[in-house]
Amino acid sequence: MIGSGQIIVDLLISGFNRIKIVYKLLMKFLIKYFIYNVLLCILLYNSTYSADTQNIYIRLNQIGYRSQDIKTAVLMSITPLYVTRYDIKSLGSNKVLYSGTVIKLNHNYDKFKYCYSIDFSKFTLDGIYKIYIGNSSSYQFRIKKNLYNDVVDSLILFFREQRCGPTDPILHKKCHLSDAVRLMGDSDHTGNIDVTGGWHDASDYIKFLSTTAYTTYMLIFTYDFDKSKFGFDNDKDGVPDVLAEAKIGLDWLLRCNYSKYKLVTQVQDLKDHEVGFRMPENDSLQYDRPAFAGIGKNQIGIYTATLAIASRVWSARFKNYEFSKQCLNIAENLYSIRDKVPDIDTSGTGIYRDNTFWGKLALGAIELYLATKNPSYLTDAMRYADRAGSDYWWSWGNINSLADYRLAKINPRFSAYILNNLNFFNTNKDSSVFNEGLAYSWGTTNSLLGVALQEILYKDLTGIDQFDTLAIDQRDYVLGRNPWGISFIYNIGTVYTKHFHSQIAYFNGGYLPGAVSAGPAPEVLLKKYRINHNISSFDYFNSNSVKYYDDISNYITNEPTISSNATALFVYGFYSDRK
Ligand SMILES: [Zn+2]
Repeated sequence: MIGSGQIIVDLLISGFNRIKIVYKLLMKFLIKYFIYNVLLCILLYNSTYSADTQNIYIRLNQIGYRSQDIKTAVLMSITPLYVTRYDIKSLGSNKVLYSGTVIKLNHNYDKFKYCYSIDFSKFTLDGIYKIYIGNSSSYQFRIKKNLYNDVVDSLILFFREQRCGPTDPILHKKCHLSDAVRLMGDSDHTGNIDVTGGWHDASDYIKFLSTTAYTTYMLIFTYDFDKSKFGFDNDKDGVPDVLAEAKIGLDWLLRCNYSKYKLVTQVQDLKDHEVGFRMPENDSLQYDRPAFAGIGKNQIGIYTATLAIASRVWSARFKNYEFSKQCLNIAENLYSIRDKVPDIDTSGTGIYRDNTFWGKLALGAIELYLATKNPSYLTDAMRYADRAGSDYWWSWGNINSLADYRLAKINPRFSAYILNNLNFFNTNKDSSVFNEGLAYSWGTTNSLLGVALQEILYKDLTGIDQFDTLAIDQRDYVLGRNPWGISFIYNIGTVYTKHFHSQIAYFNGGYLPGAVSAGPAPEVLLKKYRINHNISSFDYFNSNSVKYYDDISNYITNEPTISSNATALFVYGFYSDRK
């Protein structure tokens, strides 16, 4: 039997149930209403967003611009811009400090059919800023008199990381202390040979005469070009850091001259690429590293130039007359046999095969003239430089402008060869959105920085500033004013190359101070190698013809080299200020 008390309880329960049902219905309604409103907000926000900004991308130099620099950014959009006004505001402030109108460019970049230029050269106030257009903004950048010292301080560290042998390297221990266990290509020489030291050329542990000589020459040339900018001594050991690093290269180059008229041109062969990632001190091939003997007019040219400039600088800066004389003797010996050797050295394993030699011979001859004042070297240098002409390029092997620069200091007509290059680069620059002075290649960043380098030399000779924009565009390209909006130097800028193809970086959590990635490459080249890579947000900005992969496996786009670093050090050092 059910008592009245039970009825009351049941009524109460059914009352609770009714309240629960009403509550549930109310909640359902509120949730639906809330979701509807959120969706509506997103929809409205998106339509405002696309009307205002259309997913536009602003590309600029992420380090920034010196107060008086030409200052430009590039804007890419798939659809035409509705808003053409841009504002510059300080970081964290809403106050507009400068504004202007974007200018439509005649060229486009792949799917970005609408590209615009932003020129804010007239804005010179020191500070940290962003550019705003509608709801979009750029990465931050600075305007400051003195901006590039940090870049240079970083770049110089890369060489130290690349050091081989008992040379006090960073990020790894002494390595390859038995270089080399045998010498190939010289039947007169048996047994081992001391070619310890120097630098690993890139991510692998092979060492090359051509790129080591280029790098060493550039480091000394850099110091000689402007001692106030390149005489810095960050480790306070009394030796300019640039020359301390050059000495690592020089000592190795001297060892490569193992007999009066002979040279080692390479240490280690392609076996190096077959044993997988390992730290250099743990290299299972350390007792299986052959050296290769070889010679050619090309090698004699750059080798002679490097030892001749060293003899002059070590005498003037360090009063080290003995070392200076040793360098000069070897340089003159090797130069004397230039007509008895092949044009192009073909020793080694085919990596870094050169294709020119007149420009390098000219550089060797003019440096010998500057070291000795012997007029016959000057006569040779002029003859060779005329044979070389303009090379319309820049890489470790295309350096005619260095000889032309030295010669033009004596006879101004040689500056015309550099001018030819600059006119060619300038025509290229004007035919694209990002103003690249040269075509994409394996080593794009090195070539583009080489364009800037040649402008710096030409302006130093003539005072003509006609190509300033050309140089600044290449400088800025490498620091983020490019389709991907990435700085190609490790830890420089907001977004930078992080996944270098580097064994030492791999074992150090990706850390690789001062490394410059080789940069974007043509699809026709990448296609040949078919390197697998992870999907990345940068892929969206790859075009049909040019691609960049920030991927550890990509040795075409992401491997740093000592040659690129040497070029970068000169260019960014030129824009630095140590006073
Ligand atoms: Zn090593």
